[in-house]
Amino acid sequence: MSNPIDQAICDAAYFLRKSAFTTAFTGAGISVESGIPPFRGEEGLWNKYDPKYLDIGFFLSEPEESWQMIKQIFFNFFGAAVPNDAHLVLARMERHGMLQRIITQNIDNLHQEAGSTNIFEFHGNSKKLICLACFREYHYGKISLKTLPPRCPDCSGLLKPNFVFFGEQIPIEPLNAAYDAASRSDVFLIIGSTGEVMPANQIPPLAKQQGATIIEINPEESLYTGRVTDIFIRGKAGEMMKRLAEVLFATPLENNKYGVN
Ligand code: NAD
Ligand code: ZN
Repeated sequence: MSNPIDQAICDAAYFLRKSAFTTAFTGAGISVESGIPPFRGEEGLWNKYDPKYLDIGFFLSEPEESWQMIKQIFFNFFGAAVPNDAHLVLARMERHGMLQRIITQNIDNLHQEAGSTNIFEFHGNSKKLICLACFREYHYGKISLKTLPPRCPDCSGLLKPNFVFFGEQIPIEPLNAAYDAASRSDVFLIIGSTGEVMPANQIPPLAKQQGATIIEINPEESLYTGRVTDIFIRGKAGEMMKRLAEVLFATPLENNKYGVN
């Protein structure tokens, strides 16, 4: 095998084929090639915008001001993004029975748009709006954002994008699903996450403790890399997942170097 990336991809494909239960754990990095920047780092959103607008206390006291920033980032800017090869390959893996769960920290809805179904969103979804008075949920396309803040068509309550703001709790359902997936997984595939965000960053170490093989894709090392990762594929999510798919779906099983299927 000529180079370390090819070797890592081949090793990853071997474990993915053997796995009876695989989980993908995705962070902001998987959507970078779709044009959505991560929060942290040089190109990160927090270098351009003040995170206080996404603090629940600030939102409740100044909803109009918060909503102006939310509309600009999450609707005008993120709204135009489409899934890239990494989202599409994960959806294809699910269709082929090779991927049982996606646990995502992202709020951009791109896994759904790629065709994945078994998705648990740790931090909610920016394309859904929830009424803080009657808790009805609306798809963002159904609500006009001409006048801010938008109000519930049913009860006039304040609408909030249904993702987790700073100061809010992680919803219990994805948290439980993530613990369950971590304890059942033979392979746990981490894509584009720094490992800095609590409590999501506790999930990969748990999977490792329970015996999963940890595969990680990231152009940079993360907090997981030296600690829990078994196979590190250094590179961009879309490019690497495309190359991984070529091995996973195209190579006849009997030709793989391990001679197993
Ligand atoms: P992060 O912003 O902390 O880190 C992003 C990671 O992606 C880094 O490790 C970086 O090296 C890596 N990366 C950059 N380009 C990449 C590429 N092309 N392919 C693969 N990896 C790449 O991300 P995080 O750890 O997920 O935490 C940030 C939090 O902010 C998340 O929990 C999420 O809720 C939220 N967020 C969501 C979105 C989104 O929905 N797309 C975008 C930004 C932030
Ligand atoms: Zn309402």
